[in-house]
Amino acid sequence: MLTRREILALLPAAVLAPGMASVSPARAAALSYTLKPRQLSDGIWLLSGAQEAITRQNGGAIANVSILDTDAGAVVIDTGPSRLYGEALAALARDLTGKPVARVYNTHFHPDHVFGNQAFEPETIAAPKGVIDGLKDFGNGFADGMYYITGDWMRGTELVLPGTLLEAGVEDFGNRRIRALPMRGHTSSDLVLFDENSGFVFAGDLVFLDRAPTTPHANIERWRMALANLGGIPHRFIVPGHGPAENSTRGLDQTRQWLEAVDGIVRDAFERGLDVSEAAALPLPEWTNGMALARYEFERTVMHLYPKLEAEKWPRVDTNH
Ligand SMILES: [Zn+2]
Repeated sequence: MLTRREILALLPAAVLAPGMASVSPARAAALSYTLKPRQLSDGIWLLSGAQEAITRQNGGAIANVSILDTDAGAVVIDTGPSRLYGEALAALARDLTGKPVARVYNTHFHPDHVFGNQAFEPETIAAPKGVIDGLKDFGNGFADGMYYITGDWMRGTELVLPGTLLEAGVEDFGNRRIRALPMRGHTSSDLVLFDENSGFVFAGDLVFLDRAPTTPHANIERWRMALANLGGIPHRFIVPGHGPAENSTRGLDQTRQWLEAVDGIVRDAFERGLDVSEAAALPLPEWTNGMALARYEFERTVMHLYPKLEAEKWPRVDTNH
């Protein structure tokens, strides 16, 4: 059984009431993120997110962030969870490349990927329309949730929307051509970036590796289609939104297997008439033992898939559908 407290902890940040944000007024110790870039290739660095949920200890620094050196300047993929993180990231990008930041991409609208935007010129930040719309819809709710969970790490953080609307196509940075591939599935708008010169695919949260995928805004069917499309890109290296970057298809395979397994377990439980708590307590396949947060994400997935299944099974009677 889940306690009420556990159920609250499973809710997506967006549903936390705005009034819950002011938890920790002032703490003396100055917080700072220690960014440890790892060079993956010539002019490509990865800042690995912690394979954890967002907590007060990690300050929300759980997502991967990438920095690329180009003739036109530094290119940054995702900006992390807060103003503080974004400022450290912007300084690091300038240090590593010796150039100003020419372009920042937001791969999707989730808070661990976008709240560092504040440290960059809005015109340099590019995202597809669906990402910008998602930020308009959910951004302030996410900010409240992040303040509530991480406290002082979020101090001074405000939502900054991308100032450049990104369409499918190539952006030419001189020595690099980066192809923008808008997809969907993890959320209603997921941006995949393919550096044609290096063969690196930056998959955002369409790919998780060794960490269970998050599904609060997912459409699992579309996500599976996106993974199939990703598999067709002639990639050399895949950088997932969470987890290690590898020259392998492990992230694609694992994410697909997870979605299939979880979707199957939840649907089967629903058909058998189990309630939410019973479904959330069901065993997971043994191969998921090595994945961080498997139980946690499975429980969260049950909590938001169940209402959808109920809606499918018992259509509203007050409409014509
Ligand atoms: Zn993420």
